[in-house]
Amino acid sequence: MKNIKTKNIINCPLCKKNKTNIIYDFNKYKILKCKNCGFCYLSPRPVSAEELYKNDYFDEKYSLEKSDFQEINKKINENKAMIKNVLKFKKNGEFLEIGSNYGFFLAVASANGFNTTGVEINSRCAEFAEKVLNLKIVNENIENVNFPEKKFDVIFMSHVLEHFDNVIDKFKKINSWLKDDGIIVIKVPDFECLESKRDKEKYRGLSVPYHYSHFTLKTLKKLANIISLKVIFIDIWIDYKVSEKIFFMKKLIKKQNEQLKFDSEKLNIPKVYYKEDFISKLKHFIKTKLLFYFRGRSITVIMKKK
Ligand SMILES: [Zn+2]
Repeated sequence: MKNIKTKNIINCPLCKKNKTNIIYDFNKYKILKCKNCGFCYLSPRPVSAEELYKNDYFDEKYSLEKSDFQEINKKINENKAMIKNVLKFKKNGEFLEIGSNYGFFLAVASANGFNTTGVEINSRCAEFAEKVLNLKIVNENIENVNFPEKKFDVIFMSHVLEHFDNVIDKFKKINSWLKDDGIIVIKVPDFECLESKRDKEKYRGLSVPYHYSHFTLKTLKKLANIISLKVIFIDIWIDYKVSEKIFFMKKLIKKQNEQLKFDSEKLNIPKVYYKEDFISKLKHFIKTKLLFYFRGRSITVIMKKK
């Protein structure tokens, strides 16, 4: 990591203006905030994505044994809430995940009726998804990937967009693969979450030098607008540490933190039956409108073409 080649970003990647404040300074790397549009981004930043991700990134951060089915099942089951968000808008069709990692979410999407494809830069993760989870994966950098125009009904990116250099160009390319009535689902760390405000330059979501962009709901909407997309749905994580202090949240938190139990030697991929009823609408309203202030870690938005 020491000798990694970097470049300076002079103009704001979103609005192209060049007036910025340094909000965090890590010597070699700085996080800047655009005075015009409020977008926060890393500069200088590493030049090559391959250099960052092909070698030790996943080995260090997300090492996993192929035979550890309990852990694999746990990871797969963490995706239940997310697939419900997708099923609100699409029930089946062609599904692309960019940055599919070990394939846990793709496995859930596949079990719930989608015809799935993954793109993954790291060969160890791609191999795991293909061999252990039987998924179709393109083991490539997104820059070298091409799909037919308007092929996909759903394009999903979880904790991926913040890693992109030339975020607008890449997003435009990805959007060209989307059907006219398709949706793009994006999950990113929320730069305005409580943890970020509390921990400041120690906030783990900064992930220097891996995260090039630090999105907020406002800058995500701005990015969507540039690509001629609009945000049609928002979901948040709730900051458990803070919300534990609120009495009526305790039950909800306990339920979500319960240890999942699985058969130890087989894959257990959940099928989710989502029904848009009054209770689920009410829960979503409470979470995203009343508890928006307690948002933690990440924010999910769903976009479609204008
Ligand atoms: Zn800007």
